[in-house]
Amino acid sequence: MKYAIPRGTRDILPDEIEYWHHIETASRSLFDLYNYCEIRTPIFEESSLFERSIGGTTDIVEKEMYTFNDKGNRRLTLRPEGTAPIVRAYIHHGLHKKSNNTKWYYCGPMFRYERPQAGRYRQFHQIGVEHFGNAHPFSDAEVISMGVHLFDDLGLANLMVVINSVGCKLCRPVIEERLQQFAGSSVNCLCVDCQRRLKTNPLRILDCKKPKCNTYFTGMPDIQASLCNECKDHFNSVLEYLDALRIPFKVDSHLVRGLDYYNRTTFEIVSDELGAQNAICGGGRYDYLVEQMGGSPTPAVGFAFGVERAVLVLQELSDILKKEVSLIYVAPIGFAQQTTCFYLVDELRRSGIKCSIDYSRGDIKSQLRRANKLGASYTIIYAEAEAEKGTMIIKNMKTGQQIEVPVDTIIQFFTNMSKEKSKNENSI
Ligand code: AMP
Repeated sequence: MKYAIPRGTRDILPDEIEYWHHIETASRSLFDLYNYCEIRTPIFEESSLFERSIGGTTDIVEKEMYTFNDKGNRRLTLRPEGTAPIVRAYIHHGLHKKSNNTKWYYCGPMFRYERPQAGRYRQFHQIGVEHFGNAHPFSDAEVISMGVHLFDDLGLANLMVVINSVGCKLCRPVIEERLQQFAGSSVNCLCVDCQRRLKTNPLRILDCKKPKCNTYFTGMPDIQASLCNECKDHFNSVLEYLDALRIPFKVDSHLVRGLDYYNRTTFEIVSDELGAQNAICGGGRYDYLVEQMGGSPTPAVGFAFGVERAVLVLQELSDILKKEVSLIYVAPIGFAQQTTCFYLVDELRRSGIKCSIDYSRGDIKSQLRRANKLGASYTIIYAEAEAEKGTMIIKNMKTGQQIEVPVDTIIQFFTNMSKEKSKNENSI
């Protein structure tokens, strides 16, 4: 029987995994630079956690959650995003009472029942950050600039920050009323979801993905005009700091994002290299969420980016990942030479030298073909003639040059080389 992979999921094969390692390593080291610590939360949580925080009228909660009852009849959901579980953990461990400057990051799989397409999956991976305890626009700008810094480190170019403010408790009702007024006269032009959301959660309609609603709302007046003075000042300060940090941005007054917990700043980092799903990273401020979920009032701001989308961009720029680790391929020619090579690879690995051997291959031609395929920088050739002399041949796979050295100097040769790697790379 042949099993199909579940729709919207992917196997990540070794060819691709080096991009993942590159992204994960760069993220961890950058977050460390900004003094963020890692947190890991469960893959599933109580369903109501997401319903309350993300919002009952969002696409995620209405259509996309993987929700099930466990054997104890608890309603659980595979996490569709990382912020709500982290806020739950922040409160659960009492940090809302102690620390007013907590900086956390996370990496892991998320689950949304979406229509799969390039860059959109049902199981996808996010890396994200959350900064609790600071309401100042500096912290919005710092979080955005950290995202840009990370993508710079990853080697991604042609990125743009798209930014908006969705107001606060005070001015949100004004924004909503303007939306209702604008849409009210021609409500029938909108999709059924938007018609319903216009009454219950008007801001949601700006996040509708249906082209007919999208086109309709292009004519809508800027929501920034309805912001209260404090929200306007906050927004202008964030823009000013981004300018000072030389981060290119574009204001998009329709950017509300697909989660209800945001207030004031919402932003995305978009890439020209991605098609329809062009947002690599999304985030914003959520000053009410900790309190809404039972903690003390704590302002917060964060972002999350999709690892699959970052990988897609990196693959477009394929030369970005230059192989840093050299691989030595060991090629015993003939059965009798295999035992010596079997011990040699063990010694090489114990000396910290990465190597590979294939006992099923016979002649020199197929061994060298294999070495090339694996991207080996050197091949050690050991045939009967060398065995008789007590030597081995080291072939530089880039230049084609080769030298013959005594068997007992092989380890020394490669350990010296890795010490002076760059100097000796093309020396033979
Ligand atoms: P969100 O959690 O919706 O704010 O999304 C943040 C980022 O996660 C997006 O910018 C994408 O890079 C990524 N993302 C969200 N949904 C998906 C998905 N279904 N498949 C792949 N990546 C996704």
